Amino acid sequence: MPFEVPPLPYDYNALEKSIDEQTMRLHHDKHHAAYVTNLNAALEKAPQQQSHTVEQILRHIQDVPEAVRTAVRNNGGGHANHSMFWNIMSPGGGGEPGGPLGQAINSAFGNLNTFKEQFNDAGVKRFGSGWAWLVRDSSGALKIISTANQDSPLMEGLFPVMGNDVWEHAYYLRYQNRRADYLKAWWDVVNWKEIASRFENFKDHMNKAEGR
Ligand code: MN
Repeated sequence: MPFEVPPLPYDYNALEKSIDEQTMRLHHDKHHAAYVTNLNAALEKAPQQQSHTVEQILRHIQDVPEAVRTAVRNNGGGHANHSMFWNIMSPGGGGEPGGPLGQAINSAFGNLNTFKEQFNDAGVKRFGSGWAWLVRDSSGALKIISTANQDSPLMEGLFPVMGNDVWEHAYYLRYQNRRADYLKAWWDVVNWKEIASRFENFKDHMNKAEGR
């Protein structure tokens, strides 16, 4: 089996101020695990893909045999998106990004609060299930987008600097229908240190995803 669920980098209850323990257990141990199980099952029918990283597979999704392409898109996207998601949160998160990322956010969006409002708006307006993203395009410019289902920005040649999961499974136990409240509370566990590292190293990440 080529892909595995990475362990959470903190306890299930570590993000309690924004996300409850039961949601974290179900989200990581059941939802993420199912994406990995289904991705591995799909790739049994496309063994030439098994030597690639999940980022490479998504970046070149059109190269995946059509018979399994939708399954790989959904479940490979689910695996990549959630692997990022656990790492861009931390019990010591929140606050403000400094350094080059903080400057780039101010330059692109005016200030941090405006950025958060626009990011949350992208999440609220995503109809059904999906993700809100801060991405860098090929020129390095920052943009806010949202994707449906488990679609990855990598499929469009965009690098996911950070993303928030707006599937109901991410928030429904505590927030029920109040997705906007979840999006607001989420910033208290955002791991700016990890996000800054992703922002600064995006060319390396994209070169690897391209297979260079
Ligand atoms: Mn999820």
